[in-house]
Amino acid sequence: SDVPHLTLNNGVQIPQLGFGVWQVPPDQAAESVRLALDAGYRHIDTAAAYGNEEGVGQAIRDSGVAREDVFVTTKLWNADHGRAGEAFDVSLRKLGLDYVDLYLIHWPRPDQDRYVEAYRAMEKKLSEGRARAIGVSNFHQPHLEKLLENTDVVPAVNQIELHPGFPQEELRAFNAQHGILTEAWSPLGQGKGLLEDPQLTKIAGEVGRTPAQTVLRWHIQLGNIVFPKSVTPSRIRENLEVFDFELTDDQMAAISALPGGRIGANPETAT
Ligand code: NAD
Repeated sequence: SDVPHLTLNNGVQIPQLGFGVWQVPPDQAAESVRLALDAGYRHIDTAAAYGNEEGVGQAIRDSGVAREDVFVTTKLWNADHGRAGEAFDVSLRKLGLDYVDLYLIHWPRPDQDRYVEAYRAMEKKLSEGRARAIGVSNFHQPHLEKLLENTDVVPAVNQIELHPGFPQEELRAFNAQHGILTEAWSPLGQGKGLLEDPQLTKIAGEVGRTPAQTVLRWHIQLGNIVFPKSVTPSRIRENLEVFDFELTDDQMAAISALPGGRIGANPETAT
């Protein structure tokens, strides 16, 4: 596959498509990541909260792929905003790696209001070379504004729920204005209603692709970073094959207008 790289605001390169491992059980994580690396994925998105960092790291270390050729993201859990440095070290130890490529605050938890403190500790890991880039996830504009006012390093990415039916146009624009790349979580809408939508199925037929590939292509053309999740070998391969066709402007607009809405937690209230 020929996954393009995007350039983060600090010059680090990130493969635009990767492999997400939320809800991949710990005892299946190594096998799934091995399949993904074999298929050609070179970007893995995990989190302390997913409970599978050990398996992810094991697969990377055993893969034979050079460490510098795999982009690894993990995330700080909500309970650890007051001890981000220690939590980061635990994640590195579980992964069995010397550094991660990207470390994110998983949720802003405005009720705790400790994300500035957490980010300060992450800036230190960045300066020590333990993280090649740092950023946030599930941050709304007010959370980003507060972070930008009170810290030194502009987040490299904001990883947010984003899929047809929940295209997040305003937040994407705000990210872009500040040099923050948008990562789209649950890019396939968790595979539920979206992939059977008749309008989507029709467009998929027009381009001769599966609905999942059509949705992933929509993300790629918008400039989003994506990491669809699957534990099914054929789907793991299928989700990577989205760089040899194009959607027209009309097809893009029709997919953007599909019905839907938020399916995950609301960042204002998520705990
Ligand atoms: P997703 O949108 O990637 O959907 C995954 C599901 O879609 C699979 O379980 C499967 O049922 C189905 N599917 C996958 N490929 C398919 C195919 N080719 N054909 C048909 N069905 C297919 O959902 P996700 O796992 O929620 O999101 C992807 C990744 O985003 C996660 O693994 C995780 O890394 C990240 N994420 C981050 C947050 C956050 O708060 N930062 C939250 C949710 C997810």
